[in-house]
Amino acid sequence: MFPARRAPHVHKFGGASLADAAAIGRAVAIVRGHRPEPTVVVVSAMAGTTDALLAIAAQAARGEERAAAGLIAELRARHRRAAEAVAGARRARAALLASIAAEFDELAALAAGLRLLRDLTPRTSDFIVARGERLSARLLAAALEAGGVPARYVAAEEVIRTDAHFGHASPDYARTDRAARRVLRPLLARGVVPVVPGFIGAAPSGELTTLGRGGSDLTATLLARALGAARVSLWKDVPGLLTADPRVVPDARVIPAVHTREAAELAYYGAKVLHPRALIPLAGRKIPLHVRPFADPASPGTEISERVGATGLPVKALSAATHQALLTVAGNGMLGVPGIAARTFAALQARRLSVSLISQASSEHSICFSVPEPAAREARAALLQEFREEIARREIDGVEVRPGVATIAVVGLGMAGTPGIAAGVFSALASGGINVVAIAQGSSELNISVVVDGRDAAEAQRRIHAAFQLARIGGGTVTRPERVDVVLLGFGRIGRMLAGLLARVRRPQAALRVVAVIDRSGFLFEPHGLSGRRLAALAAAKERGRAIARLAGARAATPEEAIAFITRRALSRPILVDVTADDTGPLLAQALASGMDLVLANKVPLAGPKAESDRLHELARSYGRRIRHETTVGAGLPVIDTYYKLIDSGDRVLKIEGCLSGTLGFLLDAMNRGRRFSEALRAAMAKGYTEPDPRDDLSGADVGRKALILGRLLGYPGELRPGAVESLVPPAARALPLGEFLERLEELDPPWQARVAAAAARGRVLRYVASVTPRSLSVGLREVDRLSPFAGLKGADNTVVFTTRRYRSNPLVITGPGAGPAVTAAGVLNDILRLAGA
Ligand code: ADP
Ligand code: ASP
Ligand code: MG
Repeated sequence: MFPARRAPHVHKFGGASLADAAAIGRAVAIVRGHRPEPTVVVVSAMAGTTDALLAIAAQAARGEERAAAGLIAELRARHRRAAEAVAGARRARAALLASIAAEFDELAALAAGLRLLRDLTPRTSDFIVARGERLSARLLAAALEAGGVPARYVAAEEVIRTDAHFGHASPDYARTDRAARRVLRPLLARGVVPVVPGFIGAAPSGELTTLGRGGSDLTATLLARALGAARVSLWKDVPGLLTADPRVVPDARVIPAVHTREAAELAYYGAKVLHPRALIPLAGRKIPLHVRPFADPASPGTEISERVGATGLPVKALSAATHQALLTVAGNGMLGVPGIAARTFAALQARRLSVSLISQASSEHSICFSVPEPAAREARAALLQEFREEIARREIDGVEVRPGVATIAVVGLGMAGTPGIAAGVFSALASGGINVVAIAQGSSELNISVVVDGRDAAEAQRRIHAAFQLARIGGGTVTRPERVDVVLLGFGRIGRMLAGLLARVRRPQAALRVVAVIDRSGFLFEPHGLSGRRLAALAAAKERGRAIARLAGARAATPEEAIAFITRRALSRPILVDVTADDTGPLLAQALASGMDLVLANKVPLAGPKAESDRLHELARSYGRRIRHETTVGAGLPVIDTYYKLIDSGDRVLKIEGCLSGTLGFLLDAMNRGRRFSEALRAAMAKGYTEPDPRDDLSGADVGRKALILGRLLGYPGELRPGAVESLVPPAARALPLGEFLERLEELDPPWQARVAAAAARGRVLRYVASVTPRSLSVGLREVDRLSPFAGLKGADNTVVFTTRRYRSNPLVITGPGAGPAVTAAGVLNDILRLAGA
C-alpha cells in the first residue's frame, strides 16, 4: 500500500520576493506559515539578476571586458551578502558560499570565452542566464533549512523537460509529468520541501534551455500539473492581478477572482504579471492559482480558476503589448483566393514567429497582423519569400511594416453578447484624440484588441480603464488615489528644506507623504510615510554630516538600487523629486519607466546633450508621466509656468531674455554702484550667495544651463556650444588653486573698474544676460541701458523678460528673488502640489 498522498501546494517566489536577505527571510516565513502541508517551492532569480546576466553576456560578446567584469563582481557580492545573512550552520554556509563561488567562476570563464568568440548564441545565453535561478534556489533552500524547514535543492533539468528551442523553449508535458513525479514525490513523502529553480528546463539532448522571460511562472504551473497540486501561489510585488498595469494606470484595482481564460488572455496579450503560457498546463485541471502580494501575505490576492463565473462588469481588465509592429499583406489579387491567410501564418509558424493580433477586412483585400518589433524584419522576409510568385504576378502588392505600435487588449468573459463594448472602446479613444490603427475581436468575444500608435498606448489604457469604470471592480484597492507618495532624491540643503515644507502641507485634496529619502550612500524607505518629526531628525543628522545609509532603519545602496527597491512597492501616485546636482538622467529614466512622475530642481539632466533630455520627455510621454522643473530656471519664480500660460492662450514666444544668476546680479549691481570686484565678490561669499568655489558662478556655466533649458522650451534644437557662454574668469585664473585665486582677487579689480567706467560713460550698466530664441542662444556680459528692465535689478534678484507676439513692444517682465534654498524649495513644493492636483 502506498501512503495516502496529500496534494501539495506550489509556491513560486518572484524576483522581488528574493531581492535581498530580508526578503528571503520573509519568503521562509511564508513557507513556514503554510506547513505542514506538502510544499514545493519554485524561485525566480534575485531581482535584477536576469537582466544583469543578459547584460554581462552581451557586454562580453562585444568585447567590453571591464564593464562585464564590474557587473560580475557586483552580482557576486550581492549573492554572497545574501548568503552570509541567510545560511545557518557553519557547514551549510561553507557549502552555499562554495556553490556561489563556483557559479561565478564559471560565469567569468564564460565571459572570457565570449570575448574571444564574439558570438552569443541563444544556447550560450541560456547557459549563462540560468544561473540566476540556480543561485536563488540554493539561497532559499539554505534559508529554509536554517529556519527549521527540511528543504532540498532540486536541479530544474531533472524535472522540467522541453524542446530544443533555446531562449524560448516549450515544455514537453508528458516527459515533465513523469520526471517531476519521479523526482519530487519521494521528497514530498518524507516531508522535505523541494526548491526548484524556475525558468530552466532540459532539451531532449539534456542541454539546458530556458522558457522565455518570466518563465518561472510556467515552471510552477508545470509542476503543479505534474503533481496534481492543491493550489499554486505566485508571490509577487503587486497586490494581485490588477485591472491594468499599475505603472501605466495609477488607479488600477485588484480583481478578486478571474477565470483562467480571462487571465490567459491578459497574459498572452502582454500583461507582464504572468508568463504568456503559464496557464496552459492548468487547463481543465481544477487547480486554482493565486497571484498574491509578497508584501502582505495575509491578503488573498487574486484567484485564477475555472470556477469563477462572469461578474457584473462586462470588461474586467486591460493589457498592452508595446513595441509591436503591424504587418500588412495587401493586393487586389487576394480576393477570393483560398489559402492566403493560411499560407501567411504557416510561413510565420515555420520560423516560430508568434503573431498576437490578426485582422482581415471583409473585402479580403488585405490581411494585417502584429508581431513584436524585433521579429518584424524576419516576418517580412518570410512573407516576401512565401508570396514571391504572387508578388511577381502583381496579385499581391507587397508586405508593409509599421513599427512602433502597441496592441491593447480589452478582456472580460462578460463581454460576450453585451452590445456596445467595441463602441465604448472607440469612443473612449476618440475622446482622447487617439487614432485606432487596427482592430480585432476574437470570435469568443472574450477579447477586443486595438492597435494604436505606441506613443498613445498609456493614455489609451487610462481612457479605456476610466470608460469601463474598472476602478469600481470589487476587492481591495491597490492605491488610494487621494494619497501622493513623494520620494526625495538628494537630501542637501534644498532637500532638507523641502522635507520641512512637505511635512507642514495640509491639503485635504492630496495627502502628501514622503515615503523615501535617497542620497549617494543609501536610502530610507517607509511605506506609511515619514512623519514630520522623523524627517526633522533625519535632516538634523544629515546636517551634522551623517550619510543616510548610516541612519537607523536605512540601507546602503546605490541610487539605482534604491529606486528599483522603492518602485517595486505599491506606491500611490509616486513622484520622484530630484534635488541633486548630479547627472541623474538614467535614474530618472528608470523612475519614469516604473511609473513615477518627476519634479526636478536639478538642471544637469535637462541641460546635457539634447538627445538625453529629449529621451526623458519621450519616455514620460510613452509612460504617461509628467515632468515639472520650474526651479531649474528661476528658482521660485514662475518662468516656465508663464511660458505655458502664454502658449496655452494662443500666444507665441519669440524671445526670452533674463538675468538668471542671483550671484552675478549681486556682484554686478555692487560694481555698478562703485564697489571693487574683489570687495563685491568677498561680500557675496560672506552672504552665502556663491558656490564654494566662486569661479563656478563666474564661469557662467550655471546660467548657460538655465538658458539651454529655456531655449529648449522654445524649440532651440542645438547643444550648448563652447563659445556660447562668456566666462567672467580670465583664462589665467581658471587653473589656480582656490586659495591662491582668492588671495589674488585684487589683481582683477583694474580691468573690471575700466569696464564699469566705460559703460557708465555711455549711460549704461553691466549685466550678465542670457538670451534665447527658437534659433539662437547666447549668454554673457552686456551693457544695458539705464531704462532697461535689467538695469533696475537689486541685490540677488532675477529678471526674466518675455517678448511674444502679444507682448512685443512692451515685453512681459517677471522679477524677484531667483536663488537660495528657501525659494527653490518652495518652487519645488509648488511643482509637487501641481502634480498632486491640489
Ligand atoms: P515576478 O516577480 O513574479 O516575476 P513580475 O515582475 O513578472 O513578477 O510581474 C509583476 C509586475 O507585472 C508588476 O510589477 C506590474 O508592474 C506588472 N503588471 C503588468 N500588468 C499587470 C496587471 N494587470 N496586474 C498586476 N501586475 C501587472
Ligand atoms: N528570472 C527570469 C526573468 O527575469 C524568469 C522569471 O523571473 O520568471 O525573466
Ligand atoms: Mg515574472
